Amino acid sequence: MTDRIPQTFPRFEDVEDERRHRKQRLAAAFRLFGRFGFDEGVAGHITARDPERLDHFWVNPLGMSFKQIRVKDLVLVNRTGEVVEGSWPLNRAAFVIHSQVHEARPDVVAAAHAHSVYGKTFSMLRTPLDPLTQDACAFYGDHAVFEDYTGVVLDLEEGKRIAHALGGTKAVILSNHGLLTVGHTVDEAAWWFITMERSCQAQLLGQAAGTPVPIDPEQAELTAGQVGSHVAGWLSFQPMYDWIVEEQPDLLDE
Ligand SMILES: [Zn+2]
Repeated sequence: MTDRIPQTFPRFEDVEDERRHRKQRLAAAFRLFGRFGFDEGVAGHITARDPERLDHFWVNPLGMSFKQIRVKDLVLVNRTGEVVEGSWPLNRAAFVIHSQVHEARPDVVAAAHAHSVYGKTFSMLRTPLDPLTQDACAFYGDHAVFEDYTGVVLDLEEGKRIAHALGGTKAVILSNHGLLTVGHTVDEAAWWFITMERSCQAQLLGQAAGTPVPIDPEQAELTAGQVGSHVAGWLSFQPMYDWIVEEQPDLLDE
């Protein structure tokens, strides 16, 4: 049985194979975000860097439900914000934020952002997540708060400031707005978003119920190394990918 459990993310010899893989993971991530109710009108975007044209990224078309996105619906955007593959328009905010994150972080393959309820509720507090649960330790010392809100992000300078706030971490809480996560794989970025949203929910519930006791810094640090690695993030996404593909196989349509 152990040969069915992959220990690390796949590597590709062929760039076409790698591109297809990224697009499949991206379409699946949208279906999962839709399934979990992370969509809000036309807000939210997940991007995957193209494996060949490194300053281009794949993204959801503006106006299409996360719940209906297939591999063939994804659009490819160049560094100036033009759609170079696909016929649907692009969300300007998606370009402005994600282009700057991808540019500032060459290590990042994917970035995810949505207006999910617990993430945006937590973002009102303008405070980082506390190490209150084992899962939340994935973000211990590894996320930032962008303590500013200046309207819908339409200006490249604002995207740059968000990328600057993110720094070298895996996530940034955008005040009064929502969460943004990044990863070395689409799988990882999507998983950090899902688990961060749930960690926000857990902290809000805990604070509503009483006075939560945080995990000791030393233990939080140790746990961060266990649950917060690139491979751990990638691995956590695998059961969800298998489940959503089995439930909604049309997401793979090319
Ligand atoms: Zn947004």
